Amino acid sequence: MATTKYIFVTGGVASSLGKGIISASLAKLLQSRGYNVAIQKLDPYINVDPGTLNPYEHGECYVTEDGAETDLDLGHYERFLNVFTSQSNSVTTGRVYLDVITKERKGDFLGKTVQIIPHITDEIKRRIKLLGSGGKYDFVITEIGGTVGDIESLPYIETVRQLKWELKSRCLVIHLTLVPYIAASEEIKTKPTQHSVKTMLEAGVQPDMIVLRTEHKLNAEIKKKVAVFCNIDKQHVIEAKDVSSIYEVPIEMQKEKLDEMTLMHFGLKVGEKPKLKDWKNFLKRIKNPKHTVNIGLIGKYVELKDAYKSINEAIIHAGAAIETNINFEYVHSEKITKENINSLLKKFNGILIAPGFGVRGIDGKILAAKYAREKNVPFFGICLGMQAAVIEFAINVLKLKDANSTEIDKNTKHPVIDIMEEQKRISKKGGTMRLGTYACKIEKNSIVYKAYKSLKINERHRHRYEFNNKYKDLFIKAGMKITGENPKTGLVEIVEIPAHKWFVGVQFHPEYKSTVINPHPLFVSFIKSTLKK
Ligand code: GLN
Repeated sequence: MATTKYIFVTGGVASSLGKGIISASLAKLLQSRGYNVAIQKLDPYINVDPGTLNPYEHGECYVTEDGAETDLDLGHYERFLNVFTSQSNSVTTGRVYLDVITKERKGDFLGKTVQIIPHITDEIKRRIKLLGSGGKYDFVITEIGGTVGDIESLPYIETVRQLKWELKSRCLVIHLTLVPYIAASEEIKTKPTQHSVKTMLEAGVQPDMIVLRTEHKLNAEIKKKVAVFCNIDKQHVIEAKDVSSIYEVPIEMQKEKLDEMTLMHFGLKVGEKPKLKDWKNFLKRIKNPKHTVNIGLIGKYVELKDAYKSINEAIIHAGAAIETNINFEYVHSEKITKENINSLLKKFNGILIAPGFGVRGIDGKILAAKYAREKNVPFFGICLGMQAAVIEFAINVLKLKDANSTEIDKNTKHPVIDIMEEQKRISKKGGTMRLGTYACKIEKNSIVYKAYKSLKINERHRHRYEFNNKYKDLFIKAGMKITGENPKTGLVEIVEIPAHKWFVGVQFHPEYKSTVINPHPLFVSFIKSTLKK
């Protein structure tokens, strides 16, 4: 296709309706018809990226290959499409303003008054079109974070207005709203949707399609009503009923013809309906498990499910791969004590210690690593989880009583985990960790080699501290092996205990690379090990 088409997904009525999943599902459906699709997320907050945000604020920070710290929706895009995203797929208001203000300081605006329109909107436009330039993509789907009517969203909606005018038939606006069900009167209400579209109209944007998120099936009357009140074709009112898994959404959207309506809107041939064979197989395996295991995640952000989003999804992918139903339960690391650890963890067939930062909850993580090691329970430590396992091993096996990470205790006598050399000079917090993809050399005689079936892998990182190589020999002698290293720097990326059933700690984040079509080999291997008696 010569010219890229631009699809905007906006939200109304409430947040958390699943714009990301609707965008990813449409992208998946278009991709399965042979189109190249890029998805982009525009976030209306002033942080330059979510890297500095506490997970309690917006959930997990997702890291791309090129080391961008981004919104977790980018994770959905990668998991659904099985393609990598990058810095250009994630834009925040903070980043847009930073660019414009930097240009202003350089004198690029030649004395002009710098304003939201046109300067901020131009910068947003530039970033949207950047993805479409070069002709690589047939469609660019841009999801606008927040809800229409928010003060923060205004420049984005204004940009959509301008682009709709500029791009004419190459532009499509999909508005996602909620139709609430009032139990007392047994009625589904369309008024909030009408008001939401009115707000869009006040900003000068007529949506072309409406997706109605609903708890209950909608009848033709409701759809007709929305169509009439919102100036939209009846077929362009799409129902998005709640489903048990986000991975059902592409199938539901196909039934609702979201992709067909999109193609017709652009005057493209609809053609045959894709069979989505792999996707449906994946769903079938989720629904018909042959085994069940209990896995515990030890972390400190357990109150918020989204804080460990990618790990959650990687667990689902691995479960599907080996037809296993995984009861995945979170355990608050701050609640774990020597006294209660047995009763808290005994039900688990496998223990995963989550990534994290800072002192809070670290003791519980160290106790959990000890429990898994001593009781021969399959153990998977990710980033801080790996570091906790190293500290535990140093204290209890190497008998280095006050071994620690310098992140936890600056003055520890035995810094078995220490700040990376290049990090010592860094004082700014934003975007300064060791981020993105790095190569890792794998030792042949190892659990991880059996999983990856490769001697060289690439994984994504997000950390400041590392295994202290001064202690390497002590660990190896005592039975903790180093089975993965950065080929250039010798930085330890993977530790294992060969005498254990399955004990692996990784400094990187394998969860970011697990997708529906490519479940991550380490997660699969971990879950497999929990099935063995
Ligand atoms: N806080 C640790 C570090 O900076 C671990 C980071 C993580 O778990 N992502 O090295």
